[in-house]
Amino acid sequence: MKQKPKGVNTICTHVGEVKDEQFKGAVSPIYMASSYAFEDVDVKRYPRYFNTPNQEALSKKIAALEHTEGALIFGSGMAAISHAIMAFLSAGDHIVLQQTLYGGTYNFAVSQFDKYGISYSFTTGWTAADFEKEVRSNTKVIYIETPSNPLLTITDMAAVAELSKKHGLVSMIDNTFASPINQNPADFGIDIVIHSATKYMGGHSDICAGAIAASQEHIDKIWQSSICFGGSLSDQTVWLLERSLKTMALRVKAQNENALKMAQYLEDHDNIDVVYYPGLTSHADYELAKSQMSGFGGMMSFELHESTDPSDFMKALQLVKPSMSLAGVESTMLLPVKTSHSLMSPEDRQKQGIKDGLIRFSVGIEEIEDLIEDIEQALAQVKPKSVFA
Ligand SMILES: *Cc1c(COP(=O)(O)O)cnc(C)c1O
Repeated sequence: MKQKPKGVNTICTHVGEVKDEQFKGAVSPIYMASSYAFEDVDVKRYPRYFNTPNQEALSKKIAALEHTEGALIFGSGMAAISHAIMAFLSAGDHIVLQQTLYGGTYNFAVSQFDKYGISYSFTTGWTAADFEKEVRSNTKVIYIETPSNPLLTITDMAAVAELSKKHGLVSMIDNTFASPINQNPADFGIDIVIHSATKYMGGHSDICAGAIAASQEHIDKIWQSSICFGGSLSDQTVWLLERSLKTMALRVKAQNENALKMAQYLEDHDNIDVVYYPGLTSHADYELAKSQMSGFGGMMSFELHESTDPSDFMKALQLVKPSMSLAGVESTMLLPVKTSHSLMSPEDRQKQGIKDGLIRFSVGIEEIEDLIEDIEQALAQVKPKSVFA
């Protein structure tokens, strides 16, 4: 009899454990060995081969969460991104990248591809037609990010997947912002699903890791080159990531709820000009977001009225921390222009619509009333500069 697929919290807590046969402990034991005997093992186990007991078990959990056949775990999100991309590109090949992109991925493209003889194009928008326009005869990969960082643009995953199939391309997505709880791109036909597990998967701002989920065929291909690049994750951190994933659905759902309330509050505030959040009906692609996401996530960005200095505002916050990373249980804010997108040229930032005063907000699991109160007091403290001063 075919088993009913498990619910997401059950996958988070149970799928892909290392069973403690010896002591029957409640949690996976950590196997730190970097050497495994050849006898009785049909695979050559080695940490860089992504197949220690803990790596293998956690891969199963991530594959189950992303509805794919397989997964690999990496030492960082950028390791996952670069290993995925490099597995499918050779000198002479071309890749189409979404214009609105995580700063590190943008930097990877502009600083590394040239020397490998790989050409690339950034789209001018994020509709399927914008992607198709950039496809050339030597294009091999289409790379998308939805919701994107930091403006939360939404890309039509099914349309991009269809377009990729039509042209025989491999489609890849950075699914970090949504997390596997809110969005499963494989269900829409996207080939390679990538995560910075440093974010929602880790969730506590204490792990740096990455993951790729895909069909076994694609995972095998990525594995071949990844064992050469050597971006695997230590078993100790693999174990910590497994522990974090047990509560991921609970955390992310709490963040979804908080973020929606927060976005509605900010949108109604006189001192705030724009709020970018896919769960707001005012978002340009709200309907599309609703059709491909089961929750709208904990990330948003907003622009204060020009009379308020964003740095002063962030300094006045007491509960929300100005911080580089995102997706932790604690709420954080940053200015993309000074941090995540500082490596991008001002012209490219302008093209993407990232204004100097844009604030990116990662909403945590604190009580929403406390978060709103913190923003109220910060705005009250930062007296708007008089227009006539
Ligand atoms: C943080 C982040 C990355 C990079 O991940 P690291 O773990 O820092 O290497 C990639 N994509 C997105 C959307 C991110 O937020």
